[in-house]
Amino acid sequence: MDTITFPKRFLWGGATSSHQIEGGNFNNDWWAFEQVPGHIIDGKISGDACDHYHRFREDFALLKGLNHNAHRLSLEWSRIEPAKGYFSAAAIEHYIEVIKELKRLKITPIVTLHHFSTPLWMAREGGWLNPACIDRFAIFTKAVASALGKDVRLWMTINEPMVYAFFAYITGEHAPGVKSPLKGFRVARNMLLAHARAYHAIKEIDPTAQVGFAKHMRVFEPYRQDNTWDAKIARNQDKAFNMDFIDALFTGESSGNIKVKPSEKELVKGNCDFIGLNYYARDSVKFSLLSPSTLFGKTVPPPPGMKTSHFDVGEYYPHGIYRLLSTISQYGVPLYVTENGVATVLDEKEKDDRYRREYMAAHIYEVGKALKDGMDIRGYLFWSSFDNFEWAEGYTMRFGMIHVDYETQKRTIKPSGKLFSEIAKTGVLSPAMLKKYGVAL
Ligand code: BGC
Repeated sequence: MDTITFPKRFLWGGATSSHQIEGGNFNNDWWAFEQVPGHIIDGKISGDACDHYHRFREDFALLKGLNHNAHRLSLEWSRIEPAKGYFSAAAIEHYIEVIKELKRLKITPIVTLHHFSTPLWMAREGGWLNPACIDRFAIFTKAVASALGKDVRLWMTINEPMVYAFFAYITGEHAPGVKSPLKGFRVARNMLLAHARAYHAIKEIDPTAQVGFAKHMRVFEPYRQDNTWDAKIARNQDKAFNMDFIDALFTGESSGNIKVKPSEKELVKGNCDFIGLNYYARDSVKFSLLSPSTLFGKTVPPPPGMKTSHFDVGEYYPHGIYRLLSTISQYGVPLYVTENGVATVLDEKEKDDRYRREYMAAHIYEVGKALKDGMDIRGYLFWSSFDNFEWAEGYTMRFGMIHVDYETQKRTIKPSGKLFSEIAKTGVLSPAMLKKYGVAL
């Protein structure tokens, strides 16, 4: 491996979301979903999570100590607008303080407006299936952009619309637990329009703000390389999951199952200042008549000999991040990696974290190569800053650079957090660093 040097102004940090770390978010659809036995793998509720709502100052101080110069967080809509049309001054004040604290530490905030959790009142009105959500999201966005606008330069409207539509409305594994592909695509369309409305709402308040969204992308690989069906399914999944939403957004026209009416073209087309890429792993895809909701493709463990990532689903494939950055470079807007990371399960900080260090280094290396090859990449945010509540997987997966003991709320920096800190400080990834942290690439 050769040494890779990153630009001086490159953003380095971690990514988080409100419901996964704040604790005490009992007024959203996830909280309701967690109460139903069988929904969360370990039967746990998010509960106090990392109690970040009360500990954000100490948490940010830790991140500052690790040389982060950026931080991705999400605003909890159900706190800010706990009842329809009622905005909580106290909650808004809280987030003003959060952003101020980041600014004081010279950490650039990257603020997401919707990261999977939806206020209960909106969920009761049909949530993201009800087209009224588009107006409601615009109203919420306007309120927070007016309050926080001057301190936030980078806004992300919606986190992973296709992942949301897929898990929340197609497989039903996420709140609200609906199982209907048709509804899933309606939700994705509503999210596209909601993104566009939020984009304009922010721009009206501050035309210089940069507004994008987070796009989760995966590499879909045919399980059997010489099988025409596997190859076709992998292509179809790539189009439906990776490309349709983003194509519809940039062209203002329907793409696959994401429908845009001609009258909506102007609202939608090209209204995205940057793309946040969330990348984790590669999927091995096999043709299966039993999987209609995933376009007749079944994700299977990768062929023997391949290394798995993200527990047993998905393959460790660092070059995937390069390939996907290259794919989305075609849209001609700046790119950020807004999530990339790996879950480990053991609570043994040292041993378990070795894999995270390798994963981190290998992916950052690929991002460096992409930069060198001329792609306009402005930052890299690791998922996640802290161990946290992993949705339907409860507390069984640990994604953090910082270990959290949920009993005591003690934070312990993992070796991966230290490796990241060195990279962020120097803007360099070198063989000597890897050696120091026991990483062999
Ligand atoms: C989501 C995060 C989640 C992570 C790891 C992403 O798709 O945005 O909320 O924790 O994946 O599974």
